[in-house]
Amino acid sequence: MPLASRLPAPPETMAVLEETYAGVLRRDPGESEFHQAVHEVLESLGPVLAARPGLATAKLVERVIEPERQIMFRVPWQDDDGEIHVNRGFRVEYNGALGPYKGGLRFHPTVNLGIVKFLGFEQIFKNALTGLGIGGGKGGSDFDPHGRSDAEVMRFCQSFMTELHRHVGEHTDVPAGDIGVGAREIGYLFGQYRRVTNRWEAGMLTGKGMLWGGSAVRTEATGYGNVMFTAEMLRRRGEDLDGQQIVVSGSGNVAIYTIEKAQQLGANVITVSDSGGYVVDEKGIDLDLLKQVKEVDRGRVSDYADLRGSSARFVAGGRVWDVPADIALPSATQNELDADAAAILVRNGVKAVSEGANMPTTPGAVHVLQNAGVAFGPGKAANAGGVAVSALEMRQNASRAAWPFSQVEEELLAIMTSIHDTCYETADRYGAPGDYVVGANIAGFERVADAMLAQGLI
Ligand code: GLU
Repeated sequence: MPLASRLPAPPETMAVLEETYAGVLRRDPGESEFHQAVHEVLESLGPVLAARPGLATAKLVERVIEPERQIMFRVPWQDDDGEIHVNRGFRVEYNGALGPYKGGLRFHPTVNLGIVKFLGFEQIFKNALTGLGIGGGKGGSDFDPHGRSDAEVMRFCQSFMTELHRHVGEHTDVPAGDIGVGAREIGYLFGQYRRVTNRWEAGMLTGKGMLWGGSAVRTEATGYGNVMFTAEMLRRRGEDLDGQQIVVSGSGNVAIYTIEKAQQLGANVITVSDSGGYVVDEKGIDLDLLKQVKEVDRGRVSDYADLRGSSARFVAGGRVWDVPADIALPSATQNELDADAAAILVRNGVKAVSEGANMPTTPGAVHVLQNAGVAFGPGKAANAGGVAVSALEMRQNASRAAWPFSQVEEELLAIMTSIHDTCYETADRYGAPGDYVVGANIAGFERVADAMLAQGLI
């Protein structure tokens, strides 16, 4: 797909970016999500390169696109029946110019190198936007924890870390959770790291339990942060969240704490979903029940509907975007909201869409939403709260401190507001008022590019 520059840029600059993108397609065929993530960033960078030819001469775009290091490894493990399985593990140490590589681990059957690279690429800019001194990385495995016993998940995590420990560390690369990696997996991974290295190195992994080096608000951070970002977008339009009807997709960690913060701010969240379908709950999602079903029983949203009674309806196979709402917060996975769904949301009068998941909105959908004047928060800005509190966890670990919940939440709010304002002001400066995509891409890129420029040819 040709690059459609989001902002006016000279044809010779666009030709350089086109050539760079063609190189990505040539060098990494078949990595469609990675191509999509790169394409989306390149469409914002034309005017930056035109204004700063030094960045183009130094080949900063090509250098940022190429990961510093890509690690792939075998993860053998044994199930409860004694059968042996072989999965593939990944860690892409993408860019360390701003600090140790930082980013989650995803355990899901769809994980491959292209997925990890798309996530790692996004993470570079997201982490830069936090301003907290963290580089970008990502990892994971095609292991599927669904339906596996605790003992099986533990053996898998131990095998995964038996290799990964060689590559990570508090000053090198600091993983955390993502889809399929929550508190249980982080515990098993940390335990194995400690065992094979004989080091109490709290800062080598974030999302840890509160008893052993974790941070308050880390569990809540991604969802809370996205709602804070949405509230800031609304504030610029003279509105707030009170009384707004919200559709949320997903029902994992991000979705649950998105709902919690939205409810605290007076909004009415009426949907959740999983791969089996979605639930509409006219009375508003009962969060205690949802937490019981998802966090304790590891159940499905259809179980929530069964237990909730008459206000909730389960729709098998459908999509939450069909439900009329003022605000949509996609919080499940990549490319879950396409152009058709965006058109339905617009027809139903949606005012804001903000990405809790990574790249849940397709490029076509972003186009439909922005053309209709909908405030759109791109994930690399809107869902940066998770990794931001991870950086605060690293800070607490470095000083062997544990800050109270209220302090971390206040810091999270300040960080999300600052990310919002940075994106808003950058977009304004480049003549695209209200375009958070342009703002996030340019502000994130400039920070990383400037650090790389200062550090020589790296
Ligand atoms: N996986 C999360 C993200 O996409 C969090 C990463 C982290 O805390 O390092 O940003």
